[in-house]
Amino acid sequence: MILASDWVAFHADRTPDKLAMIDQYTGQHLTYEQLNDRAARLATYMRDSWGAKAGDRLAILAKNSVDYFVFQFACIKLGAMMLPLNWRLAEQELDFILNNAEASGLVYDNEFAERIPPLVQKTTVAHTLRIDLGQAPLDAAPSFEEAIANAAPDVVMDPQTTHDTPVIIMYTSGTTGRPKGVLITHGMNFWNAINIGTPTGISHHSTQYVVLPTFHIGGLNLYANPLVHCGGTSIIARENDPGLTLRTLSDPELGVTHFFGVPAIYLFMSQHPDFDKTDLSRIESWGCGGAPMPASLLKTYAERNIIIQLGFGMTETSPTVFLIAKRRALAKPTSVGKPLMHTRVRVVNDQLQDMPIGEVGEVVISGPNITPEYWRRPDANEDSFSIDEHGNRWLHSGDAGMIDDEGCIYIVDRYKDMYISGGENVYPAEVEQVIFQLEAVGDVAIIGVPHDRWGECGKAIVVVKEGQQITRETIIDYCKQNLAKFKVPVTVEFVAELPRNAAGKVLKRELRKQYVPEAA
Ligand code: ATP
Ligand code: MG
Repeated sequence: MILASDWVAFHADRTPDKLAMIDQYTGQHLTYEQLNDRAARLATYMRDSWGAKAGDRLAILAKNSVDYFVFQFACIKLGAMMLPLNWRLAEQELDFILNNAEASGLVYDNEFAERIPPLVQKTTVAHTLRIDLGQAPLDAAPSFEEAIANAAPDVVMDPQTTHDTPVIIMYTSGTTGRPKGVLITHGMNFWNAINIGTPTGISHHSTQYVVLPTFHIGGLNLYANPLVHCGGTSIIARENDPGLTLRTLSDPELGVTHFFGVPAIYLFMSQHPDFDKTDLSRIESWGCGGAPMPASLLKTYAERNIIIQLGFGMTETSPTVFLIAKRRALAKPTSVGKPLMHTRVRVVNDQLQDMPIGEVGEVVISGPNITPEYWRRPDANEDSFSIDEHGNRWLHSGDAGMIDDEGCIYIVDRYKDMYISGGENVYPAEVEQVIFQLEAVGDVAIIGVPHDRWGECGKAIVVVKEGQQITRETIIDYCKQNLAKFKVPVTVEFVAELPRNAAGKVLKRELRKQYVPEAA
């Protein structure tokens, strides 16, 4: 049992005046002393007014802000679990999560005020606090700012808190179905900070621009929380906006050194009119992960001397498992490289035996950054973990992967998205990689649809770049030249945009619902 420390309190003591976080939307700047003080006061308020205590689940429905992190560190001081909510979810989905987690308190952004009364009525939530961000309040609930102003900074983290104590309950992106609540412990956050800190070189000299939503693990742990661990600075964007991102990354006064985005963020940034004329040479480290990354997009950046390091992670692994070494990134553009220092990965068959080099199997992961369990989901806990003959515990990722002769891993695709055409497995991500090579293609997704002769066949759903043209025949011919016949899509559909979730992942189940309604 390892006793945990309070990261913010540590830096508040050693470097109180160091800038911890900047809120890009409100302009608020918080030093470590201020961040710690606000978190302690909020914890006191929640303890005294809500009766909040260790083990409670306290929810937040908000866009990115420094107050999100104030709330997170307040929960940590209380020993409670922060429950981040995806504000894009519908009322019923939020009801499900709040009741599933039995959340007792809820902090929310003023702009969501109208959504709160029905949530309070239908769920376990008994206490609320409204974050105003300098706007006129839209309801009469107590305000976050007043709560902080009127409470004393009394609460300190219980010294008996351990690395096994859950600090966050984070629901997965829900890409493949109903989101699952993943318990994230102090220890998982610590090992993520170490795992990602080593290869990216983040330190107290670093500044990161955080654009991923903080209701997913990426927004918190890539690399905002690791930066708090090492005493660096984060600039928090309220939402991702490609033009603003370009301006922020090139601003010499802000001095951003690190950036992490999902493929969709890099895609939309590269398609922005300011992309070519923006000086991005200040950034030391560019990370990417969360979904398949087109090699052609990596090339677009490489032509500008920007080496994007491709990674892989899951909510269940808090999240980082891979981030390819810079020296390999150009030579192996579709690989995520070797596992990070304190995590182990294998590619196995359904008997948990290693697959030979170059053969596809399931990616399984072991290490101190892996969740102890899904919250109240015995079915998922049963299906997702295996113990090997040495007693090691492996998380089943549900992702197909392949290992090469150097030990580098390629994420092939999710098993749930794979389809079988004429008895052969087809991984849509491979077909998408090929279609992305066509200059006129702005975005593409492949799904399997029923076929009389082959059982299933591929359907390409394509977004054409603005001002460009391409025909179905050109796309199919190009696939025929570059892919085995059974992988070539049979039909092509042109659309204005692809449905994506807040993590920037293409919602294949939405596409299947639309194009294969009988299978939904
Ligand atoms: P749900 O589990 O609710 O369906 P989700 O799996 O999308 O949602 P996350 O935990 O946010 O939720 O995402 C983890 C998944 O993202 C991985 O299992 C993998 O499928 C995908 N992923 C992450 N990095 C990569 C990558 N570099 N290439 C391909 N896929 C990736
Ligand atoms: Mg998942």
